[in-house]
Amino acid sequence: MAIDLCDCRFDGDGRFDILKTPTSPDVKKGERFDYEERTADNAVLMAQLQDRLYAEGREGLVVLLQAMDAAGKDSTIKHVMSGINPQGVSVHSFKQPSAEELSHDYLWRAVTHLPRRGEIALFNRSYYEDVLVVRVHGLWRGYKMPERCTNDSEQQFFGKRYRQIRDFEEYLYENGYRVLKIFLNVSPEQQRQRFLERIDDQSKNWKFSGSDIAERKLWPSYMRAYEDAINGTATKHAPWFVIPADKKWFARWLVSEAIVDVLRQIDPRYPELPQDQRDKLAEYKAQLLSEGGAKGE
Ligand code: ATP
Ligand code: MG
Repeated sequence: MAIDLCDCRFDGDGRFDILKTPTSPDVKKGERFDYEERTADNAVLMAQLQDRLYAEGREGLVVLLQAMDAAGKDSTIKHVMSGINPQGVSVHSFKQPSAEELSHDYLWRAVTHLPRRGEIALFNRSYYEDVLVVRVHGLWRGYKMPERCTNDSEQQFFGKRYRQIRDFEEYLYENGYRVLKIFLNVSPEQQRQRFLERIDDQSKNWKFSGSDIAERKLWPSYMRAYEDAINGTATKHAPWFVIPADKKWFARWLVSEAIVDVLRQIDPRYPELPQDQRDKLAEYKAQLLSEGGAKGE
């Protein structure tokens, strides 16, 4: 049986063990076309649901993507969102923080990019970098903060951050937002292949950086950080989806499934006008019809 969305979901029940989680689905190459068609069908559904979400303006959605380099974050965003009306959707990439960003608490910059209710914000990386790269490189030890913050052990420091993130996501949920968290789980071998492709294909050279090789060497530390972060922040209202990402066409389908699923849970509906306003519409219609006018214009 091929993997489906339920197999990828972590909501705090049961532990996420990264070494036991597949990066490649058990599907054959020949099934690719079938999955691409399903992704296209989901894009149509997504567009319809987003139209209602925007019209209703009642609930906002944050979709965040985390992954190792070359796992396909950018291309997933490009493909999965292709059918969606750009009005009501924003994309933000979280890069290395600026001096201004570093002088604030780590959630500050994420808050400034939250969507309005009715809108969708896509985060390419997110505040989860603050429990991933920041942990792997021990960056937090150099932060300009009082000793009561930096004197903690690594475990204490990040244990607090997982709790802060859980609280933050619960705060958002209680204020009309959902957070969909996606980890594109790629294997080191697949990353190696994609890096080689980026080097060999001139049109992809710009995507490659020497630091990608340095980060790759820290793979086991990153995997530990991902495992702990996902276990520490998976909740019922803000679950993680760990998606096998070695086959891009399969990963795209699963991401589209996750987005359609959360939009269906939101169940947005076009607002219905109150009776007095509907009566007015009938009046306006009668006025417009009485003006006549040439047919077909
Ligand atoms: P690509 O996959 O195309 O390389 P990218 O998302 O890796 O895209 P880059 O500009 O290469 O984009 O990398 C952004 C870098 O910023 C990443 O290495 C990420 O770990 C780092 N970063 C993001 N947030 C933080 C943070 N809070 N502290 C330190 N580094 C961060
Ligand atoms: Mg990069």
